[in-house]
Amino acid sequence: MSATKPLSESVLISESRLQSRIQELGAQIFTDYEDQELVLLGVLRGSVLFFADLARAIFRAQLADQGREVALRFEFVQLVSYHNSTKPSAVQLIRGGSDYLKQRHILIVEDIVDTGRTLEFLHEHLEVLNPKTVKVCTLLDKPVQREVSVAIDYIGFEIPDAFVVGYGLDYAQQYRNLPYIAVLEST
Ligand code: 5GP
Repeated sequence: MSATKPLSESVLISESRLQSRIQELGAQIFTDYEDQELVLLGVLRGSVLFFADLARAIFRAQLADQGREVALRFEFVQLVSYHNSTKPSAVQLIRGGSDYLKQRHILIVEDIVDTGRTLEFLHEHLEVLNPKTVKVCTLLDKPVQREVSVAIDYIGFEIPDAFVVGYGLDYAQQYRNLPYIAVLEST
């Protein structure tokens, strides 16, 4: 998709659908990690809005279940796999997580799983830290483009083969602050 052509967006997942699904994910994650410490590992930058809403959804589930808790820690890694284009390229690590990740329960929080290469790379990166467990929560799953098989424990929405933006996801660093997910098309 050329950056010079005008682009139009059409809503694929509305703000209200996003938010209600994230509350469900938060409740499920709370139940699965009850009374444990969990490190939410956000993959920058695309997951930031999802990460923030998911963390609060886990807390809301805790409020509804008095007496139990999940002690949440926040960590972040930054990876790039798209360079101002809609075509994938090699995955690069720009910023790693801290030593705090060692021997913890880690939940990777991703915006979207496409080819699976980012997750594959991240799993290899985390292996040396000898974590207790590593699970994956992605807002969006685009299985049509999968090149490597990766296990995903929590999926917000499965989407068709389209380039999407919004709710953290960008095209050339734009559209990240849309409160919904939209398909980006050349006009
Ligand atoms: P994968 O390594 O699984 O192919 O891709 C993961 C990363 O590619 C995501 O974290 C995201 O940054 C980017 N990506 C994949 N598909 C899309 C898409 O449809 N829209 C946007 N904006 N980014 C995507």
